[in-house]
Amino acid sequence: MYFDKDASPDDIEGETVAVVGYGIQGKAFAANLRDSGVRVVVGNRDDAYRDAAVADGFDTRPIADAVAEASIVLLLIPDEAHQEVYTAHIAPHLADGDLFVLAHGFSVRYGRIDLPPGADVALLAPKMFGKPIRQRYLDGSGVLAFVDVVQDATGRTLRRILAVARAVGFTRYGVLPVPHATETELDLFQEQFLTPLLLDAFRTAFEVLVEGGYDPVPALLDMHASGEMAEMLVEAADTGLYEVVEQQGSPTCRFGVQRYLGKLLGDEVRDKGRAILDDIRNGGFVEALSKEAEADYPSLADYTAAYRAGALTRAHDRYRAVLEGR
Ligand code: NDP
Repeated sequence: MYFDKDASPDDIEGETVAVVGYGIQGKAFAANLRDSGVRVVVGNRDDAYRDAAVADGFDTRPIADAVAEASIVLLLIPDEAHQEVYTAHIAPHLADGDLFVLAHGFSVRYGRIDLPPGADVALLAPKMFGKPIRQRYLDGSGVLAFVDVVQDATGRTLRRILAVARAVGFTRYGVLPVPHATETELDLFQEQFLTPLLLDAFRTAFEVLVEGGYDPVPALLDMHASGEMAEMLVEAADTGLYEVVEQQGSPTCRFGVQRYLGKLLGDEVRDKGRAILDDIRNGGFVEALSKEAEADYPSLADYTAAYRAGALTRAHDRYRAVLEGR
């Protein structure tokens, strides 16, 4: 793992960084780089995000101009837009020796962009969304990131990407070397297996309680909306999943947990996890995603409609209305 002591600002001294995209990640990266003394140019289409970058005082230009101006280019727009934006506005303006950086390995892992042969290419993948990246930079800490040297034209790619990581604040927490294919597959697996499993666990618990005659609002609060479970997971990230129950739970709680631990998810769920992982690795998922995108994401509208109509969402709306009395 790399820390502040392993990264030197000298390795990007005098370089200009183009932050392409001013969304969840772009806004945080741009602000932290600037506060670390790095010259930043934001590249964005003429859109609301562009206005936000201008309002925040950034030198903001069309994407191709920002790339031409910089020697380090961070691509921080949604992965599904990479291919088109990279081909039209980035690749033609990348010079030999430039450093091209992605925040997620997806486009490289699935061969959706052609890497520029004379440039350095690196992955710097935050394991966190944008707001904490900015907030923790301001409070003197940082968040975890994965790093990978995808292509090393200058022989200095690792040093340069670690200097970028330091300027954003990642080396304060730690930057772990992880191959870009692994980073991509782990991220997709978390999204496709763990996230639905957790959401369905909360929903199933809620539905069992409501079927059992309980008022939906206290049921929702006790299952997740109080934030207690979220705090437990935050604590667990530091101390460990089982340790947090051991340290924070009463004997009644610990006895109840151990009584059912390992007994609720059977082999069937594990087999589904294996199938999802196979689908990610063999390209089945990315093919389905391309078809979905071509049809303008019809499943997303269905998903939203189904959840909005559900009892859990209605209970949440009722709870929010009560909170408005604060
Ligand atoms: P966002 O959805 O927040 O990106 C929004 C930005 O992308 C805006 O500036 C928007 O500008 C621009 N954009 C969107 N579509 C296009 C397009 N077709 N052409 C040009 N610009 C476009 O993305 P994130 O910050 O969430 O993700 C950026 C990268 O970071 C991705 O690779 C993602 O995988 C990675 N990442 C994201 C994490 C997260 O927590 N969100 C965590 C770790 C990695 P406008 O619409 O004005 O053109």
